[in-house]
Amino acid sequence: MINHHPDEALLLDYATGALSEAVALTIATHASMCIRCMRQINQLEAIGGSLLASETPAECDDGVLAQILMRLDDEGLEPAATVKTESSAILPPPLRPYVNEPLHQLPWKRVGGLYEEYRLPLADTKVRASLFRLAAGTHTPKHSHRGQELVLVLSGGYRDGDAQFARGDFSALDVADTHQPIVDDDGPCLCLGVQEAPMRLTEVLSLRLRRFLRI
Ligand SMILES: [Zn+2]
Repeated sequence: MINHHPDEALLLDYATGALSEAVALTIATHASMCIRCMRQINQLEAIGGSLLASETPAECDDGVLAQILMRLDDEGLEPAATVKTESSAILPPPLRPYVNEPLHQLPWKRVGGLYEEYRLPLADTKVRASLFRLAAGTHTPKHSHRGQELVLVLSGGYRDGDAQFARGDFSALDVADTHQPIVDDDGPCLCLGVQEAPMRLTEVLSLRLRRFLRI
């Protein structure tokens, strides 16, 4: 069961195409595992659509969402032929077009002796999204962030303070947040992460919707 979700403002920004590719991909991946957020996004898109239909359409940057949807169209919802069962069982459909090799064959980069990172080949390189792999029982040092950090658990789990995170759980940490995730002892943890992200790109429709919904 998923216990940690993106907040409504983030879902709204996703629904209106106001997020970078990296952040939009993270939300899309969470929503593909979370019926609750998927429903909320559908509702927000419907409200946004009717707002747009009732007014002169504003220029809004939907390029990022379009890119992801196009990739999904290209690939369909089936895993790419080159991805073996191991990856396709773990990676939700939105991620699969970005990972064309089995997970164990990806060129993982070891970072600081703590974790391994595979940077996803995004079209928009301004904000990076990566897969992170941490061994069972890893204690990360207590740390804060220079920017916002998003983490979505794909397999395994970790504990952060009193909160437990498992597959599908999402966390968004701010510059002010200090934390110390500890990977569960019973297996490695694979996450999708976006670090130091400027969260929002264009907010024209977003701001209008927020005012409308009082978010
Ligand atoms: Zn959710």
